[in-house]
Amino acid sequence: MSETLPPVIVGAGPAGIRAAERLVAAGLRPVVVDEAARWGGQIYRQPPDGGFTRPKKALYGFEAGKADAVHRAMAAIRDRVDYRPRTLVWNCEAGALDLLCDGASEALPFSHLILATGATDRVLPFPGWTLPGVFTLGGSQVALKFQGCAVGRRVAFLGTGPLLYLVAYQYLKAGVEVAGVFDTTPFAVQARATAGMLRDAATLAKGLLYVGWLRAHGVPIHNGVRPVRAEGAERVNALVWRDAQGQERRTPCDAVAFGLGLRSETQLADLAGCRFRFDEADRAWLPERDGAGRSSVPGVYLAGDGSGISGADAAELAGERAALAVLEDLGRPVDGKRVKELDVRLFRIAAFRRSLSAAFPFPADWADAIADDTMICRCEGVTAGAVREVARSGQAREMNRAKALTRAGMGRCQGRMCSATTAELLSRTLGTGPDGVGRLRAQPPIKPLPIAATIPSPPRSRANEVCADATGGPEVRRKRGEGQGEGDASRGAGRISAAPQTAKDAPPRVPLTQPSPRGGEGLSGREVA
Ligand SMILES: Cc1cc2nc3c(=O)[nH]c(=O)nc-3n(C[C@H](O)[C@H](O)[C@H](O)COP(=O)(O)OP(=O)(O)OC[C@H]3O[C@@H](n4cnc5c(N)ncnc54)[C@H](O)[C@@H]3O)c2cc1C
Repeated sequence: MSETLPPVIVGAGPAGIRAAERLVAAGLRPVVVDEAARWGGQIYRQPPDGGFTRPKKALYGFEAGKADAVHRAMAAIRDRVDYRPRTLVWNCEAGALDLLCDGASEALPFSHLILATGATDRVLPFPGWTLPGVFTLGGSQVALKFQGCAVGRRVAFLGTGPLLYLVAYQYLKAGVEVAGVFDTTPFAVQARATAGMLRDAATLAKGLLYVGWLRAHGVPIHNGVRPVRAEGAERVNALVWRDAQGQERRTPCDAVAFGLGLRSETQLADLAGCRFRFDEADRAWLPERDGAGRSSVPGVYLAGDGSGISGADAAELAGERAALAVLEDLGRPVDGKRVKELDVRLFRIAAFRRSLSAAFPFPADWADAIADDTMICRCEGVTAGAVREVARSGQAREMNRAKALTRAGMGRCQGRMCSATTAELLSRTLGTGPDGVGRLRAQPPIKPLPIAATIPSPPRSRANEVCADATGGPEVRRKRGEGQGEGDASRGAGRISAAPQTAKDAPPRVPLTQPSPRGGEGLSGREVA
């Protein structure tokens, strides 16, 4: 019986599930923590328990088989995993995670940690983007997948990236009127990138099908577009945009879904002390990892979109690869043939991803058109002009200084939403690339939590609980401060600027059909891919 702690995985998406599966196969009992109520992650997100009965084919379309395989993989190991759903990891420091579950905080020490935290939408603001009815692409897809709701009855889709066409297609199939697809990428750029995408002909074919389906159903698709503003008083009622010829045009709609690709959720890797590097393809600072997923911090591993956007197939492979690295580092035997196979497949996907980035480049000039009075940080009410001013005056030449002076990124989202914009504004005002202004240092809590959760609570019965794992080794759960010294106990709480969670966080949603949100078939039989 070894006294080592069980491996901990943050994230029960494709990467986390495949990592857990591999560790279980080796006889370990990993802890899997996820803030979501059910496993599956973003792409294979499951609807809430009870009442939602849409079949997988309707929920996941072409990916239904993969979704089913990932869900089944987790179900098969469920009783050999210490699975913690609805549990937010809000800090990572000194070999322990701070967890929040049902309002209670707990420290989880680790010796081997796999971060499989996924990604979130990347956005740049435009005038009117804070109007009710304007959503991120991912958010509008979550509404559809998770709750069977549409964000509007006539929705305009704006931005770039594969999700743009996919979500527009899903909305159309769900019976929503799609006012148009407004892609910032010029058509010629996409056409040039097609040859590279032939590396994964099946994925390319799916993309072409979405476009063909939209066109066949009369949805206008415009390329080389820039947003001018979202119009409306109480709620958005039109998208005003500039076409590739520079002509201003107006499209009536009651919702806008927009996004410019995805942004890796890297805060925990940052708090764990991982070294970062700037990645040109993702236009972001990412935690360094080797081909196996090892970060620069011994015992911390990275897998999936949380350390670079690679998609769900790569996430599954990378999760398994990181688990194999954990096993290697624990001195356990690993299957060399499988390692090689995973490495080859990950290498191929990486090449395809580069072509995808070329087909949907980030529209960097969008940032220049953001008017000075446009709010870029909604938590703290900071405008684009305020960021430009600290750059022009020479007071701020990097992100953390700009944050200190303007408060952009200091609010409840901790820069998760506004840091890409701040970096673009700062760097373009200073005439550097976004790599030239550095990155925001992550601060706990990485997401809002109740103040009460940061006050060390008296020991509960779970404290110091020791339960046998599958190999007979003990699994130790300890409350922060018990056997770890006073400094540890107070450490997290001392650095907090927590904001309360309120119901107003939930976006307003327009139900597609009448049934109650928890009570039945939200889409009443209409297919969602
Ligand atoms: C909103 C959205 C919609 C998407 N839709 C599609 C799609 O339709 N088709 C497609 O091909 N790709 C889609 N993608 C991309 C796709 O989700 C990813 O490529 C894939 O899911 C990556 O898998 P992963 O395991 O790395 O991360 P994810 O699947 O994102 O899983 C990460 C998990 O980590 C959990 N987590 C993160 N941080 C914490 C924390 N601090 N504490 C506790 N838990 C945490 C999350 O709850 C999540 O369950 C989408 C991405 C987003 C953000």
